[in-house]
Amino acid sequence: MSDVGYQKLRELFKNLPNSKINNSKKETILAFGPCAIEEESIVTEIAENAAKAGATYLRGGAIKLRTRFGSFEGLGPSGWKVLHNVASKYNLKTVSEVTDHDDLTLAVKYLDILKIGARSMWNFRLLQECASTGLPVMLKRGLGATTYDWYSTAERLFAYGCKEVIMCERGLASIDSVSRNSIDLSTLAFLLEESPLPLWVDVSHTAGEPTVALNLIDICKLLRADGVIAEIHTNPAIAKCDAAQAIPTANLLSRACI
Ligand code: PEP
Ligand code: MN
Repeated sequence: MSDVGYQKLRELFKNLPNSKINNSKKETILAFGPCAIEEESIVTEIAENAAKAGATYLRGGAIKLRTRFGSFEGLGPSGWKVLHNVASKYNLKTVSEVTDHDDLTLAVKYLDILKIGARSMWNFRLLQECASTGLPVMLKRGLGATTYDWYSTAERLFAYGCKEVIMCERGLASIDSVSRNSIDLSTLAFLLEESPLPLWVDVSHTAGEPTVALNLIDICKLLRADGVIAEIHTNPAIAKCDAAQAIPTANLLSRACI
């Protein structure tokens, strides 16, 4: 068989600490929340529903790196306080994207996981500063990063002193354009079986559509992914960012109850 890359990754995995919980009954951790942190009242409604649907983390971006100038770019780092205040009402932890090392002093006050967004996977200064906070770092796959690039960046985070790295798949641009970003199912199955690091899936940024994202949550649970991130909203029509892919909380809850 030709070398399709599994072996190269297996070699790389030997350099990474085994930080997966080897428990076949392990539950997939759920992180739900709005794409962007909005007004506290709206985030509160969303968080209440996230908790009811079984989430243990509240997601939400304070800094949104948008494609088009003039789009809503988030509340800025002060949004993390909103995320934290709301999350603590429902006993949720927080995960949010950091984009600039200057913001980390504030981030560590309010966040439980520092998320490196797809656009920042190669921002090594940011990675280095995140590693030195002592918080877990969630590393999203870069927009054009091969799996090897992505896991090499995890290796770099450990070299910088990071104690816990969570990998987060969110798909790549591909020749196909039905969904928003493509995830290779074979690679995902391989990584879930053999990678020593916890692997989460961002179902919203791969699906780009709410019903597909909702179905992917079930699929990720079946695959025993370590975690799932999904964008949800009580009223997607008014969501300030990625409205078209937000899972309506009503749909999420009716699915969670089946
Ligand atoms: C996000 O999760 O809010 C996000 C912007 O995703 P990504 O960095 O994967 O595009
Ligand atoms: Mn989004």
